[in-house]
Amino acid sequence: MIAERVKRVQESGTMKMKELAGQKKAEGKKIISFTVGEPDFDTPKHIVEAAKKALDEGKTRYLDAPGLMPLREAIAKRAKDDNGIPCEPSNVLITPTKQAIFETIMATVNEGDEVIMPDPAWVTYEPCVQLAGGKAVPVTASDEDQFRFLPEKVAEKITPKTRMILFNSPSNPCGAVETKEDIKGLADLAKDHNLLVLSDEVYEKIIFDGLKHYSIAAEPGMMDRTITISGFSKTYAMTGWRMGWLIAPKPIFKGINKIQQHSITHAVSFAQYGALAALTGPQEPVQMMVKEFEERRNLVMKLMKDIPSFSCDTPKGAFYVFPKYEGKMNSEEMALYLMDKAEVALTGGASFGKAGEKHLRISYATGKKNIEDGLERIRKVLE
Ligand code: GLU
Repeated sequence: MIAERVKRVQESGTMKMKELAGQKKAEGKKIISFTVGEPDFDTPKHIVEAAKKALDEGKTRYLDAPGLMPLREAIAKRAKDDNGIPCEPSNVLITPTKQAIFETIMATVNEGDEVIMPDPAWVTYEPCVQLAGGKAVPVTASDEDQFRFLPEKVAEKITPKTRMILFNSPSNPCGAVETKEDIKGLADLAKDHNLLVLSDEVYEKIIFDGLKHYSIAAEPGMMDRTITISGFSKTYAMTGWRMGWLIAPKPIFKGINKIQQHSITHAVSFAQYGALAALTGPQEPVQMMVKEFEERRNLVMKLMKDIPSFSCDTPKGAFYVFPKYEGKMNSEEMALYLMDKAEVALTGGASFGKAGEKHLRISYATGKKNIEDGLERIRKVLE
């Protein structure tokens, strides 16, 4: 009954563990969840009010597929001002961030094309490539390199079939941040080998220790071959809104827009008014949330020292820690064991690729009390 292309794809490991934790809670278990990457903050009030106002004003009809022009303008301005990306509003398409990844890959990857990406990497990249008929080519992002996606390792994997380099900085699941040199090296490879780049920058504002985020599309000559993707979910605590964007060079934009027209038509109309308020309104709520994430990261790193066999360098962005552990259990067994014995839910590292085996992903987008109690439960069980 199921198409071959779907059989090639595995279930989302992050969504699976989130759902399992939900089931256990419904059964009355007091689960502490470090599964899904979802800020525990409410969407800031002024954003909610702007969407409500749009509803009250009847902004509930069809829009053009790429989205609301004032929002496209605001995104283009921010991409230029904050990231140095030389783009115009006509390069910007509004769509849920995950949909942006899916549409981009469907629009650019041919049957048999290779897409080089980090391993471990977020659970959705490889399935999108597989659905398009392409092949994901993993490059190990190792603990020793702070899980960075290093140009010299990428270079070794380039073949005549390579179509695209795909990466995510700050990264999910490791919280790795690419340096300016890494970005420059990746850009040189793309130009030398005539490759496309998909740069998922959805965690661009969640970056710590005073570090700076670098967009590869800002490197000379890269706007023509890069699709930059970002969104509102993580930065503005808007996960349920399904609101994000992509910035693509014109010919690619046209192809992606066709897929948007034939799939979701456009992103939700009144949610786009909320998103506009997010970008044009006060940014203090973002600063507050990022500060809190940094404190939580520090707390996780401090408490993790007491957990037998866990080890990890301090991540520099996003809201994930990806510790290695020792022992016989594979990462899925370990995650299920901790769910059962410690009543703590987290995601097994192998969900993010082979190199993620013997690791666990802890999403610390939850309150400090949960972090303290959850890590203490893990410590006790593993001791
Ligand atoms: N990106 C988040 C995560 O990795 C949300 C869940 C998902 O879409 O995979 O947890």
